[in-house]
Amino acid sequence: MGNDRHASAVLEIDLEAIVRNWRQLRDRAVPAECAGVVKADAYGLGAARVATALAAAGCRVFFVATLDEGIALRAALSSGEDEGKGAGAAHPNATILVLEGAPRGAEVEFVRHGLIPVLNSLDDVDAWRIFAGLLEARLPAVLHVDTGMSRLGLAADELASLAGRLERLDHIALVLVMSHLACADEPDHPMNDAQQARFESALAILPRAPASLANSSGIFLGERYHHDMIRPGAALYGISPTPAQANPMQGVASLRARILQVREIDTDATVGYGATHRVTGRTRIATVGVGYADGWLRALSNHGAGWIGDRSVPLVGRVSMDLSTFDVTGVPETLAAPGCWIELIGPNRPVDTVAKEAGTIGYEILTALGTRYARIHSTAAA
Ligand SMILES: *Cc1c(COP(=O)(O)O)cnc(C)c1O
Repeated sequence: MGNDRHASAVLEIDLEAIVRNWRQLRDRAVPAECAGVVKADAYGLGAARVATALAAAGCRVFFVATLDEGIALRAALSSGEDEGKGAGAAHPNATILVLEGAPRGAEVEFVRHGLIPVLNSLDDVDAWRIFAGLLEARLPAVLHVDTGMSRLGLAADELASLAGRLERLDHIALVLVMSHLACADEPDHPMNDAQQARFESALAILPRAPASLANSSGIFLGERYHHDMIRPGAALYGISPTPAQANPMQGVASLRARILQVREIDTDATVGYGATHRVTGRTRIATVGVGYADGWLRALSNHGAGWIGDRSVPLVGRVSMDLSTFDVTGVPETLAAPGCWIELIGPNRPVDTVAKEAGTIGYEILTALGTRYARIHSTAAA
């Protein structure tokens, strides 16, 4: 991680905006509990910092993907060390739920670190019951039922056989029954109602427990989808949960890159690998030190853009490993000189816009962000 004084690119993460986004979602779904999904290092933005900020704002439940993410998050929340800011409040009682569940043989790690597995199959249920039985304990777990993803979670036949033999849940304290929506970002998609109905049927045959169905987009499908807990990830990080409408969330990540060099061209020339961009006549090409090795996707080649001052500057030629090139011909020279900044993600370049240009989704743009940026986590106090 570079020092931002000479870093060629700076990634700034607005923790206050994440907290405001969390509060907005919480208020929308109250009295449902609002968890925070911080898997994949909080979508690339830094799980320790993000979860610490959310916990301070009152978030009590966090979802991670893997055991290792859970162990790291527990350490971060227990230490009360807010990196770079000295001692902060510790949040040792935060609930951490692990979406991939417990790998066989690693069950003891869940007890050791105070993590709760999501049980995604009958085999998972049996393994967790047997482990809890050996400890002569009743151990918490989340039960995940599949209502239409065909990915993780109990399939319909597994659910039926569990409901017929509920003693298979002996020694298990069900803290949550959850399912996951496939098409929540398309409000009119018939899958939403179908999954909601299947989820209700599952709840009706299982022991009473709090229920959770909605991811970010699911929250905006309406109150019926909120159940007892909502599970936003993307919307916390400024990705739009309602792609067909204006984004109700605040932007969180800004990425800016310094211009390393400006090439003045006054003849015919081509730019970059493959000579895919051709210039004719007077053109100024600015090169910045951000490339696909930084998660600035190669798919942005000849499709992306940056922002200088009050105008968009097209990304021309191919994105290379460490460098990208922008046509800054129309920009005043004082704003497009070596050392000047180009905004790649930010208020003028929302993450969803970058995603569209790259032919992907905001989730991939954020989780791909590389390790070479100088990272700044800004707070209101800072
Ligand atoms: C990632 C994930 C979420 C969060 O989804 P977003 O669309 O980012 O809000 C919620 N639930 C499960 C099971 C997930 O895997």
